[in-house]
Amino acid sequence: MTPLFGGIEGGGTKFICAVGTSPDDIRRETRFPTTAPAETLGQAIDFFKQVERDYGRLSALGIATFGPIDPNPASPAHGFILPTPKPGWSNANVLGMLKSAFDMPIVFELDVNGAAMGEWTWGAAQGLDTFLYLTVGTGIGGGVMANGSLLHGLLCPEMGHIMIPHDPLRDPFEGVCPFHNDCFEGLASGPALEKRWGRRAETLPPDHPAWALEAHYIALALANYTLTFSPQRIVIGGGVGGREDLLPLIRRQVQEILNGYVRSPAVAEKIDEFIVHAGLGSRAGMLGAIALAKQATSSVDHENRA
Ligand code: ZN
Repeated sequence: MTPLFGGIEGGGTKFICAVGTSPDDIRRETRFPTTAPAETLGQAIDFFKQVERDYGRLSALGIATFGPIDPNPASPAHGFILPTPKPGWSNANVLGMLKSAFDMPIVFELDVNGAAMGEWTWGAAQGLDTFLYLTVGTGIGGGVMANGSLLHGLLCPEMGHIMIPHDPLRDPFEGVCPFHNDCFEGLASGPALEKRWGRRAETLPPDHPAWALEAHYIALALANYTLTFSPQRIVIGGGVGGREDLLPLIRRQVQEILNGYVRSPAVAEKIDEFIVHAGLGSRAGMLGAIALAKQATSSVDHENRA
């Protein structure tokens, strides 16, 4: 029997749970609003319990959750949501609740890292070993794969909160980040667009000056990431980042900002292949959670063989 994997995309507004083996083989999927941890995780557990009654035991479960989280499996805080503005979720023991319900390998990751894993397994980053996935939407965050492994360390990288040049003459908007005001997320997230222009980002027409400014900020960040992480590709998703008309503006401005310094043909000649949209679109997170589960069992097999 084909081993089946469970995946949870745990978002700040909704949870998506799915079971399958690949994008073409999703056997069952459900979504529900994110409420209190016990209620929301209880719904997820009920879903997978029912799936196991119908299909048999799952092989592994991956959860790609909103953060912040502690990526270090040896840390006592691993598996918890760290202090967050999301009501009720600070110090929620997400992994513990799932582990008490299921006896199988469970992988706990940050949402953007899950999406990066999904893009690497089935999407726009297949065959690469160093790339980054960036989401620009309600928030801004990124996951980095470096030399074939997701980058963890002191914390999961917080790529939305980098400081980028902000010219108050061109853009007097003060920013929306509660910690830094005009960091990248403070200037370029969906809520920043809405507050600056007084209307929701998706209602701004393509010729609105908002988009040139947005592309400018995203390009500044991508130029910094290119110089810092040396990615072979940058994959962009999210409600704002996924806009079709934004990519050409971003690519051109990245070239202008780097100004010939990065000699690689990827930037100089093939930027259309260097900065791309997520291949899995809005399904990157959910599929990434399944990819995490799949990878967990292949590493267990590997350990068993070794
Ligand atoms: Zn910030």
